[in-house]
Amino acid sequence: MPIVAQTENIFIKTDWRHVLAQSLRSSDELLAALELHPENFPDGLSAAKQFPVLVPRPFMQRMQKGNPRDPLLLQVLPQRVEEEMHPGYTVDPLGEQNTNVATGIIHKYHGRVLLLAASGCAVNCRYCFRRHFPYNENRLARAQWQSALTYIAQDASISEVILSGGDPLMLQDEHLAELIEQISGIEHVQRLRIHSRLPVVIAERLTDQLTEILTATRLRSSLVLHVNHPQELSPLHAERLLKLRQAGVTLLNQTVLLKGVNDTAEVLIELSEQLFNHYLLPYYLHVLDRVQGAQHFDVSSAQAYALYQQMLARLPGYLVPKLVREEAGQPHKTPLHAF
Ligand code: SF4
Repeated sequence: MPIVAQTENIFIKTDWRHVLAQSLRSSDELLAALELHPENFPDGLSAAKQFPVLVPRPFMQRMQKGNPRDPLLLQVLPQRVEEEMHPGYTVDPLGEQNTNVATGIIHKYHGRVLLLAASGCAVNCRYCFRRHFPYNENRLARAQWQSALTYIAQDASISEVILSGGDPLMLQDEHLAELIEQISGIEHVQRLRIHSRLPVVIAERLTDQLTEILTATRLRSSLVLHVNHPQELSPLHAERLLKLRQAGVTLLNQTVLLKGVNDTAEVLIELSEQLFNHYLLPYYLHVLDRVQGAQHFDVSSAQAYALYQQMLARLPGYLVPKLVREEAGQPHKTPLHAF
């Protein structure tokens, strides 16, 4: 193959969109790649019709072959227990449909709004509190950005716009740049925050162009990733995140506390240390939002607090995330101080 064609081929294969297109889309495919079988899951698997399987290959490659309890696998493999109904678990645990004040806008807290920039994700996390969210009614085509931007422009108390989703980094860089430019045209907005899990499952999403976009704007930018387990991080993450940090982007992380995945002090302490090694500061440790289908991931508040105490005892303060629960109708996340 000529060198130019070879180079183009390598470029295409490492482009995040190409990596995303190659994702695994069924439990059978996932189990085969990990040399596992349905019999390894005596409690049964789910057909996952309402919330299908979606797992990028780089994330699958960080799982341990032959291990049905792998902490990354448990986050994405639909188990039969998801189909059970449990009291207190609902389709909208955070009451977001009441705060969905305009198409593509969720306005919960003073001074900041969530703009649902993209409806899809690069990975379907089984515990996701938005697994039942009506994205179809909130699909913000570029032509509809204007209504969301008008809402923000009309409320001078909004100083921060949080791009959320789905996953906002599902937008192509060009479209993201266009959206950020329009947000920066609203004088009272000072800060831009992006909440994303996409770069965790496909590190190639942290493109040089993304760094340029986040630093070219007058808005102060921060990127909040969603890493749940130290095994999710790789040298490529460190390489790409360093570029963002050197460019001046604030880098934070939020984690969901998940039974069977990260509910030991050892894992959480290792996670905080690895986040720092990858230029991310731990920001939030969330207890599970009680969404229907995710009850098997729940860790009690008392156990969460006991884990938090162990983190306090063994880590410097800046590596201990805030332990919080989100409660519908509250003006802020609720810190879990004592039980
Ligand atoms: S990436 Fe985030 S929004 Fe998407 S399924 Fe996972 S937790 Fe939910």
